[in-house]
Amino acid sequence: MSTVTLETPTSGKYEQPTGLFINNEFVESVDKKTFEVINPTDESVTCSVQEASEKDVDIAVSAARKAFEGPWRKETPENRGKLLVKLADLFEQNLDLLASIEALDNGKAHSMAKVDIGMCASTFRYYGGWADKIEGRVTDTGPDTFNYIKKEPIGVCAQIIPWNFPLLMFSWKIGPAIACGNTVIIKSAEQTPLGALFAAKLIKEAGFPPGVLNVISGFGKTAGAALANHMDVDKVAFTGSTVTGRTILKAAASSNLKKVTLELGGKSPNIVFEDADIDNAISWVNFGIFFNHGQCCCAGSRIYVQESIYDEFIKRFKDRASKNVVGDPFAKDTFQGPQVSQLQFDRIMNYIKAGKEAGATVEIGGNRMGDKGYFIEPTIFSNVTEDMQIMQEEIFGPVCSISKFKSKDEVIKTANNSTYGLAAALHTKNLNTAIEVSGALKAGTVWVNTYNTLHHQMPFGGYKESGIGRELGEDALANYSQTKTVSIRLGDALFG
Ligand code: ADP
Repeated sequence: MSTVTLETPTSGKYEQPTGLFINNEFVESVDKKTFEVINPTDESVTCSVQEASEKDVDIAVSAARKAFEGPWRKETPENRGKLLVKLADLFEQNLDLLASIEALDNGKAHSMAKVDIGMCASTFRYYGGWADKIEGRVTDTGPDTFNYIKKEPIGVCAQIIPWNFPLLMFSWKIGPAIACGNTVIIKSAEQTPLGALFAAKLIKEAGFPPGVLNVISGFGKTAGAALANHMDVDKVAFTGSTVTGRTILKAAASSNLKKVTLELGGKSPNIVFEDADIDNAISWVNFGIFFNHGQCCCAGSRIYVQESIYDEFIKRFKDRASKNVVGDPFAKDTFQGPQVSQLQFDRIMNYIKAGKEAGATVEIGGNRMGDKGYFIEPTIFSNVTEDMQIMQEEIFGPVCSISKFKSKDEVIKTANNSTYGLAAALHTKNLNTAIEVSGALKAGTVWVNTYNTLHHQMPFGGYKESGIGRELGEDALANYSQTKTVSIRLGDALFG
């Protein structure tokens, strides 16, 4: 098994697997190619991992196919559930180490990463509980026929995940797929392969049969595209940018019409009404945009504040945001670490430049922090108009745009003026406003007097160009099962 010894300030030394995890073994890639993993905190090389090519994807798909058509098909739902629960236990037992790996690999604050890992365990356990509760039904069409409708797994599922919540996305994908009886090839993002590889070790320890869960590292345009185009992959599930989501949908359409679910980008509105509890609203607005360094598909990046409280809100929000501790992900008080990569850093800095050039006011931030690592100051733009790039496009960084509104009707219209529809939030003490505005917002999730409160029991996904399908909750099971109708003739032959 190929491993490398790594060290983190919070968990000390540990053995990091670096191979491709296929058939329960860590193996080298066919071409023996590797790629470097960069630490976003200091831009150093953490290690190298094996890089999957199209040939490795073929091997992983065959392993998943063999497992699906073989013993896994006959595995009882109860045992599938037990395996997921065991994986949940192992995540909890390794919580601190897994969080340290995430902080090292992604740059997220270790304290926040611990929350991610707890949520992974909850997700695995939740879907473990579902495994033996996936039921069909009987439909009566008359005395001559007995009909039943059952749920079957889809088959071999490719799952392509992003770098912003590497292990959380891993759990959201694997949980429902395994509960429904599928086999999986999961590809981590090239920026953050380490957590998934360590989790692969836990998959083996949990006792999953070979080939059921395969974990590969590699790039989107090669390994990702090979999965999306593969003729023997029955389903692809993807989380990432809308641009890549479109490419994956096209790949499915031009190959074998594999089933597709997509969780894509967002430009979520966060509305503060004049009757809101202002302190509460400010803390959720701050968390809504700056949590995970703004690298959330549901980040509340468009902030609309009612005009009577606009000036006061900006003053206090600036105050709050300037207290966010930015720095070393492993330091105890850190809230915001570095952005994940040079590419992301450059993209965000370009958006900041575009905002300044368009004439928006920089209330705080707007600059790089330090000269090493991909750190960016929490940045608040005010006086932003609807036509500005920073108000329309997903920035995926610690940058938000604020503008003021007069009336409820006006803000509903502006909030919905986006091609995205992943999430939205509003802050008010008025119950009627809460219910009316939540109903009018075109988004898959609406938060009232809160933000980013994701839960494994609650479906999450996008309206409009933010996606297809829902993850989490019971809804996610629909992504990983298909319906079979069986009709048994009991009476005499109809035309005999
Ligand atoms: P970003 O631009 O932020 O890196 P992406 O949406 O491109 O986000 O990446 C998310 C995931 O999609 C990663 O695992 C990446 O490797 C994968 N990916 C990127 N391009 C493709 C592609 N053309 N086909 C399949 N997967 C891809």
